[in-house]
Amino acid sequence: MERRRFLVKTGGVLAAAGAAAATIDAPNVIAQPKFQWKMVTTWPPGLATLHGAALRFAKFCDDMSGGRLKIQVFAAGELVPAFGSFDAVVGGNVEVAHSAAYYWAGKTPACQWFSAVPYGLSAQGMNAWFYEGGGLDLWEEVYKPFGLIPRPCGSTGTQMAGWFKRKINSMADFKGLKMRIPGLGGKVVAKAGGTIVLLPGGEIYPALERGVVDAAEWVGPEDDMKLGLHNAARYNYYPGWHEPGTALEAFLNKKAVDALPADLRAIVDHACQADNIAVLADYNVKNAKGLIELQTKFKGKVEVLPLPGDVLKALKPLAEDTLEEEAARDPLAKKVHEAFKKFRGLYNAWDKVSEDPYQRYVAS
Ligand code: CA
Repeated sequence: MERRRFLVKTGGVLAAAGAAAATIDAPNVIAQPKFQWKMVTTWPPGLATLHGAALRFAKFCDDMSGGRLKIQVFAAGELVPAFGSFDAVVGGNVEVAHSAAYYWAGKTPACQWFSAVPYGLSAQGMNAWFYEGGGLDLWEEVYKPFGLIPRPCGSTGTQMAGWFKRKINSMADFKGLKMRIPGLGGKVVAKAGGTIVLLPGGEIYPALERGVVDAAEWVGPEDDMKLGLHNAARYNYYPGWHEPGTALEAFLNKKAVDALPADLRAIVDHACQADNIAVLADYNVKNAKGLIELQTKFKGKVEVLPLPGDVLKALKPLAEDTLEEEAARDPLAKKVHEAFKKFRGLYNAWDKVSEDPYQRYVAS
């Protein structure tokens, strides 16, 4: 009854906060301004994992703030094109975006280390780096000149190596291969003799189907089937050496964040952290089910195959060279690369006696 009376009494006069606060029991509710944000993503609306990550983030903010921070989410192309997201948030037309940092290599090469490093870290390792290993501090430093604040906001886990129209038997098969593969991984494939095409998710299937590209990678069974890639190429290779634990991001316009009261700023932070866990869990379950579907329902039509050990061995030094070259392009990239290498050494030494042998000798 109290609540009902409150609504009636204050209906239409919320702006008169001082007067209202004197007559009701919920001064906090009245005194706090409401924020209506826009969020864009680089994802097609049909991808429940990725676009769903943005929708979940918006819901977390709404739930935790009691409706004081509302975020309207737009898929790629609905408000701005996928790769227009960065400029949209920099310009302040929208307050936040959900994406993957390697898309912004043209803005700042250092961003690439914050999404996926070939032969780098798993999702566990990336989170350890971000939250407790100094990685997020560096990421903030890289985005600061753009007036942006980055946050880890999901992980795909280990990706697949991609869909290929022809078998990969040796390194020679990369010569002349036209492949959709972004980020540092793409630069490695180029070094192996391939030609790289960068396409947003929604444009991969037609390009692969029509032979504009010979191969394409996106994420893993769940998303790849949603995009129809299993209908456009026969061979689905693993593991995703190029994206061993791809981090997704939310990046926010700093002025918009600064305009929030402290509790809403904390809510945005915690919504990112909660979403970070939820997205990885979602991917691990959906990809596990998707793999079974590929191996049963599409048996005879597609083949899920490991890349030859020789190929994985030969790609590794190309990846190391690529990282060094990219780092040399820019002092900040160099700083991030050196920090990443140092942390990877620390993390891998522990991983070698913990998760790695467990997976190798016990779980399998
Ligand atoms: Ca990918």
